Amino acid sequence: MYPYMPSPMISEHVSLKKYSNYAIGGTARYFCHAEGLHHIMHAISFAKEKNVPLFVLGGGTNVLFSDGVFDGLVVKPDIRFISVNAALPETVTVTCGAGVPVHDLLTMCAAEGFSGLEWAGGLPGTVGGAIRGNAGAFGGEMKDSIVSVASFDMSGAKPHIRVRDNDACKFGYRNSVFKDLSGKEIVLSATFVLTRATPLSVQQVINEKIAWRAARQPLEYPNVGSIFKNVAWDLVPVAMQSRDDIKKHVKHDPFPVIPAAFLIDKVGLKGVSYGGAMVSQKHPNFIVNACGAEAEDVKGLVALVKAKVMDEFGIALHEEIEYA
Ligand SMILES: Cc1cc2nc3c(=O)[nH]c(=O)nc-3n(C[C@H](O)[C@H](O)[C@H](O)COP(=O)(O)OP(=O)(O)OC[C@H]3O[C@@H](n4cnc5c(N)ncnc54)[C@H](O)[C@@H]3O)c2cc1C
Repeated sequence: MYPYMPSPMISEHVSLKKYSNYAIGGTARYFCHAEGLHHIMHAISFAKEKNVPLFVLGGGTNVLFSDGVFDGLVVKPDIRFISVNAALPETVTVTCGAGVPVHDLLTMCAAEGFSGLEWAGGLPGTVGGAIRGNAGAFGGEMKDSIVSVASFDMSGAKPHIRVRDNDACKFGYRNSVFKDLSGKEIVLSATFVLTRATPLSVQQVINEKIAWRAARQPLEYPNVGSIFKNVAWDLVPVAMQSRDDIKKHVKHDPFPVIPAAFLIDKVGLKGVSYGGAMVSQKHPNFIVNACGAEAEDVKGLVALVKAKVMDEFGIALHEEIEYA
C-alpha cells in the first residue's frame, strides 16, 4: 500500500522577502513547498518542463536574494521528521529530515540528553542548509557528528537517492560535496551519532551559546549572519603575520584564522551605511538590513568592505553567504 500524497501546489510570483531572514528580495516566478520526496520529484519535473532553473531554499538565513524576478522555481524541502535509530548504552544515532530547523533538533537533543550538537545553540536555519555549508561555531562543525547524508541526485536521466558516509560528503570549512553539486543534488536527511549526557547539561551549554550570540550579534536587525568567511592564517601575507596587533587576534575555529570582523573593524567601516544596509556596530562581519535595504545596498557594502580590506591588508575576503 502506498501513502497517497497529492502533487504540491506550485505558486507563482511569490515574494521572497518573507522567506529571507534578511527581509530582502524580489519575487520567484514559481515556488513550491515540498513536503516529501514525491513533491520534490514533481517540482524537478515541473522545472524541467518549463525549462527554468531550480533553487533549493532552507531557512533563508544564509542567502541574499536579488531585488528582481528569479525566473525559475524555488523549492523548499520541508521534510520534517526526527527518528532515534540505534540506542546503545553510550551513543545513539538520530536521523533528521533536511527541513527540520536546527533549533528543533537541539530541543529534542536537550530533552533526551543527546550530546554533540550543543555548539549549534542559536544557529538559525535548517538541517539541510547547515549540512550543505558544513555550518560551525565555537570550534564545532556539522561534520563532527554526521554518520551519513541522504540526497536526491537530479543530475542524470534517472534521478535517484544517494547515501554518502561522512568521508564521501567531503566536508571542509563551510564546504561540502553538496555545495560543489549545487543545483544537482538536494539534501533530504542526515544521520548523526551523539553521546549520552544529562538533559540539563546539554540544555545548559545550548543556552550559553544562545546567550553568547544575543550579546554579540545584531539580532535586533534582519541579517544573514557573517557575510565573509574568516581568513585562514596561512593566507595572510607574511608582512601582516609579523604584526603584533594582528597576531594577537588569531583564533582557532576550527583552525587558525583571522576573524573577518577584526579586519573590517580595523579599516574603520563599523556603522557605515549604504542605502538601507549597514555594517553592524555590534559585529562588523554582519551587514544588517537597518532600514528597508535592497540587495543592491548590501552588495554595495560588500564591495566596499572587500576593497578596503584588500587596500589596507592585501587580504581577499570571500563571502560566506550565497547569492540567489
Ligand atoms: C544570526 C545568524 C547567525 C549565524 N551564525 C552562523 C554560525 O555561527 N555558523 C555558521 O556556519 N553559519 C551561521 N549563520 C548562517 C546560516 O544560519 C547557516 O549557514 C545555516 O546553516 C543556513 O541554513 P538555511 O537552512 O537557512 O540555508 P539557506 O540560507 O536557506 O540556504 C543556504 C544554502 O544552502 C542551500 N540549501 C538549503 N537547503 C538545502 C538542501 N536541503 N539541499 C541542498 N541545498 C540546500 C541553498 O540552496 C543555499 O545555497 C548564521 C546566520 C544568522 C542569521
